[in-house]
Amino acid sequence: MRVPYTDFGKMHDPLRGQLDAAWKRVMDREWFIGGEEDAAFEREFAAYCGVKYCVGVGNGLDALRLILLAAGIGPGDEVLVPANTYIASALGISYAGAVPVLVDPDPETALITPEEAEKHLSPRTKGIMVVHLYGRVAEMEGFRRLAEARGLFLLEDAAQAHGAVRNGRKAGTFSEAAGFSFYPGKNLGALGDAGAVVTDDPELARKVRMLSNYGSEQKYHHEVQGVNSRLDELQAALLRVKLPCLDAWTAERRRLAAIYESEIRNPRIRLLKKDPGNGYHIFPVLAEDRDGLRAELEAEGVQTLSHYPIPIHLQKAYRELGHKRGDFPAAEMLSETELSLPLYPGMTEEQILHVVSVVNRH
Ligand SMILES: *Cc1c(COP(=O)(O)O)cnc(C)c1O
Repeated sequence: MRVPYTDFGKMHDPLRGQLDAAWKRVMDREWFIGGEEDAAFEREFAAYCGVKYCVGVGNGLDALRLILLAAGIGPGDEVLVPANTYIASALGISYAGAVPVLVDPDPETALITPEEAEKHLSPRTKGIMVVHLYGRVAEMEGFRRLAEARGLFLLEDAAQAHGAVRNGRKAGTFSEAAGFSFYPGKNLGALGDAGAVVTDDPELARKVRMLSNYGSEQKYHHEVQGVNSRLDELQAALLRVKLPCLDAWTAERRRLAAIYESEIRNPRIRLLKKDPGNGYHIFPVLAEDRDGLRAELEAEGVQTLSHYPIPIHLQKAYRELGHKRGDFPAAEMLSETELSLPLYPGMTEEQILHVVSVVNRH
């Protein structure tokens, strides 16, 4: 049986008419950047998250970088970030001119904790970027307390956490600002690159918007040297078609994940701690012989991925941080054992049970 890692057709086919109408509307209107689709999506996504402001940007990486620039964090400053996140989290800090300081995650959740983060504070620390990895919302109350006690800027990388919740509150609403990615494979994906910043702070929202548009609020008047990172009308129009489906898709991911959680019974496979608010962007299992398991699944038609095979401190791009193997044991353990099983809206029960049977046989 063939089980792809993801299946866009399952999500897009029922929306085909609406998606076609959306891009035609943009074509007909002949307004491609900074128009009514962008403004409407920003309103709708802010309302969805439960925040006052949303600023559409070009991608998730820029969302993070622009938040830090708007917060005045830059050269000479340090920002804490998980060692096991996608490299974009760290790059957002580097592109702002600051230094990412890595924190080892809790091996039971793959998320960083306030206790571990506190050990890495220095007089140069200006911020903490918490990443809701795999769709699991981190322990934000503790991070909030730490940030307030030390006067640090707290932000969330919510690129994997659209619709994920903690105590009834949505990911992206626990800090000064959050960055979202709408990369096609994310739980809310555009049909190309796109991202957004959400915040309750009007001044931060204004600065992010200005920075994302060449440092300009009034055409041809430039207050600062900004960048070009805007959400285009086409992607905004397509995202507006998909956003109303996000809750149903998340519910379906949770229903499917519950099958994995109850049916995977193999002493050689470990699951992360259960989290009721999980948005299940990724369904990770941990296996000593990860590559063997991956090959067995592949032979049975099941596509898998690994998020992520090389932790940040062992990436060539971050040699400058001066780390070595052994510095972040939990991140290294995850990078060696993590395998992401297929999980997407429209996946059938038969498909999921097929994956379960191969995993249980391993
Ligand atoms: C996808 C992702 C990003 C970057 O988003 P892009 O839109 O690809 O730039 C940042 N952080 C995390 C955790 C991600 O998964």
